[in-house]
Amino acid sequence: MAAVLLACDPAASLLQAQAGKPVLGSFGVDTTQMDRSVKPGDDFFRYVNGTWLATVAIPADKSRFGMFDALRDQAEADVRALVEALARTPQPAGSVRQKVGDLYASFMDQARVEARGLGPLQADLAGIAKAATKADLVRLMARRDYAAPFALGISADPADPTRYVVTVSQSGLGLPSRDYYLSPGPKFEAYRAGYRTYVARLLELVGDKTPAESAAAVIALETKLATVHWAPERRRNVKETTNPADRAGLAQAIPAVDWPAALEASGLGAAQRFVVRETSALRDGAALLDSEPVATWRAYLAFHLADDYAEYLPKAFEDANFAFESKLLRGIEAPRDRWRRGTTLLDGLIGEGVGELYVARHFPPGHKKAMDALVANLRAAMGERLKTLAWMDDATRAQALKKLATFDPRIGYPSRWRDYTDFPVAKDTLFENVRNGQLFEWRRRVARLNQPVDRGEWRMNAQTVNASYSPLSNQITFPAAILQPPFFDPNADAAVNYGAIGAVIGHEIGHGFDDQGREYDETGTVRNWWSEDTNRKFVAATERLAAQYNAYCPVPSLCVNGKLTMGENLGDLGGLEMAYAAYRLSLKGKPAPVIDGFTGDQRFFLAYGQVWRSAMREDALRNLILTNPHAPGDARGNIPVRNVDAWYAAFDVKPGDKGYVPPDQRVHIW
Ligand SMILES: [Zn+2]
Repeated sequence: MAAVLLACDPAASLLQAQAGKPVLGSFGVDTTQMDRSVKPGDDFFRYVNGTWLATVAIPADKSRFGMFDALRDQAEADVRALVEALARTPQPAGSVRQKVGDLYASFMDQARVEARGLGPLQADLAGIAKAATKADLVRLMARRDYAAPFALGISADPADPTRYVVTVSQSGLGLPSRDYYLSPGPKFEAYRAGYRTYVARLLELVGDKTPAESAAAVIALETKLATVHWAPERRRNVKETTNPADRAGLAQAIPAVDWPAALEASGLGAAQRFVVRETSALRDGAALLDSEPVATWRAYLAFHLADDYAEYLPKAFEDANFAFESKLLRGIEAPRDRWRRGTTLLDGLIGEGVGELYVARHFPPGHKKAMDALVANLRAAMGERLKTLAWMDDATRAQALKKLATFDPRIGYPSRWRDYTDFPVAKDTLFENVRNGQLFEWRRRVARLNQPVDRGEWRMNAQTVNASYSPLSNQITFPAAILQPPFFDPNADAAVNYGAIGAVIGHEIGHGFDDQGREYDETGTVRNWWSEDTNRKFVAATERLAAQYNAYCPVPSLCVNGKLTMGENLGDLGGLEMAYAAYRLSLKGKPAPVIDGFTGDQRFFLAYGQVWRSAMREDALRNLILTNPHAPGDARGNIPVRNVDAWYAAFDVKPGDKGYVPPDQRVHIW
């Protein structure tokens, strides 16, 4: 089975299980990929995954490869098989199946895209060219698919999560974050030079007469915008980014924008309630509409439009986009196969239409029952831990228990599938399909602005290999596609399922109590339910955890940002503790068997380490560390275990081992 994770096309299937036998190894962990010459206490990630790491070749079309990626490859292959089967029989016009099949077909018909050339963009380019005033710019920017220093969204209201509110967030950069514009050093200079080449190339392709000059002006403008943007870690601050406003308050907060006109143009003419997120970034970013020439903004809009749609335009756009986005920023060597990108497009625009087909074929009903039991055990374990946490006072504890009791777990797929009636799809118009899909989704959200929040809605597809927590609804969600080995295997040893999917369930529950989640109460309202003393102890413990991650530097001069990754790290640590406690409870006092020489506790931690098996290209790693709230896989495999006492006992980790943390310095929170 190991070869599956090394091959370029692992779609051979992790799921080729023999009846009653786990897919991976003899008990659920592929021990042939370990490196037993590494001491677990020195580098647990390498101990579990060392042989794999020494032999892995990251596929040319990927920036990272590992367990998650192998499963994603498989989900893509599964979706492809379903969609290609649709094409073999005519589907009723207007049905979801027709739309799924035709959307995919329109993407796969590269010759047709080539033949249409710039045609589909012409009306937009003409509209941009005609913009002469700030008012013209704002009207364009308020449309869903134009770049702007502000982005409108619709979410549950943090002051009353039973209703919706319009959110206004900072936006508008073409590089991944402000650091890419402002950081010194040859690496960042190379990223900026590549970006300049890319902007100029797309502008040239859309007919700009002086593309090099226009590109320089666009990048100078974006650099000013980057200067006022908030850093990713600051954007995680719930209090700072939750600023309620009515229409007058919005106009006061971001005075450079004519809000009645902008809201009208985006379909939100009647909206009354807003949340302004990155206040100073929005105010000062929008002010650039006054200080920068309209001609520069026109070039900015034209470039971003071409950039956003590059994958649906002729090959010259695609090639330029690949060279910049994939190769330069993430080190990827070759484009993904077109069919794989086709499945990504389906996921984005008609994901639930595909999900309905996917679960019928790939989600055994027994999985839901097994997951229900695991979630119940994790929740019980968390409840037990909450009752005995020494750092928590009783009033705060009562609130935390109340929140735990109202967690709403969702497993596999939504109970009601989305209605795609108002999303028109035709076989030969890819560009229009993509635009219609985006408009459909926006209008769907706008239409229910004044209705109660739909708690049955999913924001992840059933075919997505991931899991999520939403603080505004206190819901944890586990799509069907993650309920596979190495995360979940009904034939694996219990210790393995607790160490893998158990830790994932615990991670998502943990988000309800991380540095962001703890700002929300059991109803999803942002409310302080913490006593001052308990709050102080929580913050002090999180700072010690941040220090452990800050000291983790996967590339010289590049260390994990403990503050940016705080929520995920708290989820990992709390999830691991919870899953371990749940595993012990599941044994009901009986000793666990020894299998292949490993104790139950050892198998639990091996399964945890196996989940994080992954390797990443250096440019992608830099991108991740600067912009992503998740730490790299090796940090996630190594750091949480060092804070769990049972890990020390399981692997006889001693002072002097490189990963050893003295008992009084281990971080125990949840
Ligand atoms: Zn998470």
